[in-house]
Order: sequence, then structure tokens, then C-alpha cells
Amino acid sequence: MNTHELNRVRPRSITFLTLPGPTRKRLPSPYCYRLTYETRTPMLPGCLMVWDVMGGRDIYQVVLERNEQGCLCWHCTCPDAVYRGESRASHCKHVHGLQSVGRQST
Ligand SMILES: [Zn+2]
Repeated sequence: MNTHELNRVRPRSITFLTLPGPTRKRLPSPYCYRLTYETRTPMLPGCLMVWDVMGGRDIYQVVLERNEQGCLCWHCTCPDAVYRGESRASHCKHVHGLQSVGRQST
């Protein structure tokens, strides 16, 4: 792998969002999303993108995945997402935040 290829796969995207904070009052707090992985085959099933989310009680990971049916699935490692479970239609605030960024840029 040469330097040019390395630059293309190197995680590069940082996004800042204001989300309800981790405290009981849920005051708006700055969150930083750092893209740590992006697939080069986005139309194929598998993991498409991974972000580290900083600003909460812990660093969480949000994963965007394409399943075998071609549908996009969001996963987050935060306690809220784990509590809600994968089957629920609603997502945690970290996923919601990323989805809102996607809508703004299209
Ligand atoms: Zn989350």
C-alpha cells in the first residue's frame, strides 16, 4: 500500500454536534464524532462506517452497517442504545445526531 492509498483510507472526518448532555438535566453539550473507519465498497453488505463519539460519560462507537437485504442498520454502544435494544425503531441520540447531519448535507 503506497502513501496515496493510505491517505484515502485514513479516517479524516470530524463532526461536532450539540446533543442533550449526559447529565440529569440533559443540557445541550458538545459532542465530537470522529470517523474511524469507512468502507471502500459502500454498496456491499457489511460495516460501512464507524465513528467514535466523545462528549458523553464514555467514548461510544456508532456503526453503520448494510445487511444482506441491503438495508442500513445503525448500532451504538452507549447504555441507552443497549437498553432500547436492536429491535426498537427509535435510536439513541448519538445515532439521531448523525442522521440529522446526513439530512443537512443532502
Ligand atoms: Zn448512543
